[in-house]
Amino acid sequence: MKQGKTAIINFERSTEFKKVLSERIDHYFSSKKISQSADIRMYRKTAAVLGWLVASYILLVFFAHGPISGLLYATSLGLAAAGVGFNIPHDGGHRAYAKNRIVNRLAASAFDLLGASSYIWHWKHNVYHHGYTNLVGIDDDIDIGALGRLAPEQKRRWMHRFQQFYLWLLYGFLPFKWHFVDDFRALVSGRIGKQRFPRPKGLDLGILFGGKVQFFILAFVVPLFFHSIWNVLIFYGVASIVLGVTLSVVFQLAHCVVEADFPEVFSKKKIGNEWAAHQVETTVNFCRDNRLIGWYLGGLNMQIEHHLFPKVCHVHYPAISRIVEGVCRDFDVRYTCHRNAFAALASHYRWLREMGRLNDVAA
Ligand SMILES: [Zn+2]
Repeated sequence: MKQGKTAIINFERSTEFKKVLSERIDHYFSSKKISQSADIRMYRKTAAVLGWLVASYILLVFFAHGPISGLLYATSLGLAAAGVGFNIPHDGGHRAYAKNRIVNRLAASAFDLLGASSYIWHWKHNVYHHGYTNLVGIDDDIDIGALGRLAPEQKRRWMHRFQQFYLWLLYGFLPFKWHFVDDFRALVSGRIGKQRFPRPKGLDLGILFGGKVQFFILAFVVPLFFHSIWNVLIFYGVASIVLGVTLSVVFQLAHCVVEADFPEVFSKKKIGNEWAAHQVETTVNFCRDNRLIGWYLGGLNMQIEHHLFPKVCHVHYPAISRIVEGVCRDFDVRYTCHRNAFAALASHYRWLREMGRLNDVAA
């Protein structure tokens, strides 16, 4: 797809860094004679997370008969939905799932199954977030509205001094926005944040509306045959909050931490760094050696590798991670990895506290 006209930022000319990185990664795949796309591990995982999602939904809608079982199944549904989001449509949307365009589109449309448009996501995530990571006004992921200040160039408001406490819960409300507000607003305004994007047409528009309709049927219409409206709304809320907190926190740990850069865009829309180094220095890994976390998060604990090579399926990240780190060391590009989840969570907390401080220069 085309780039938005207003989102032109010039990075410094590429040095040998990206060239050497690409050569080493290409050499890894060619010497092992393996494809960069999905393999059996990914197919197994696709079946597992989709099975978890379907089982949780069936248990919640047909077998929950009290608050405890409802809470348990709705939490499971929220975690399963996050697992699906991390693993299937994210890779599909980046065309990393398969070489075949249709398979990738099908995998990407799992976002529509979860109630969020895969078309709008492509522009928000692939184009503006990946192309212009941590740049205020372009990367829509770091703009969560007036209630949160995630970057130094954003306006500081009085309530931000408490944001390190309340934002964690507010993240839980993001799915409500995706389901009911953001996609429709983008469709009407033709913008994602401040950036223009081409409105969907034909099949893309059909998938967007078809996805919304099937989601509302599954989330509200079907459950209403078996439960009261209040129960349906409460447990839709629980599943959505679990989904929102899980997805948001995982994405925040990669970019909104004290170790990540938030470069200023200079007056002539210039960034004083080359694109690949910018990606490494605005992104932070965590729990690189934890196989369980890596499995569930679809490799999103290794977002440095993801940002450099988004078309490589995430099952390969553990293998290419040391290669990427080695090249970064050779070229003096800062490569950061938190050893455990606690260190990553603490860093996000510290960043929120720093951004909310009264004596910050942007206040
Ligand atoms: Zn991505």
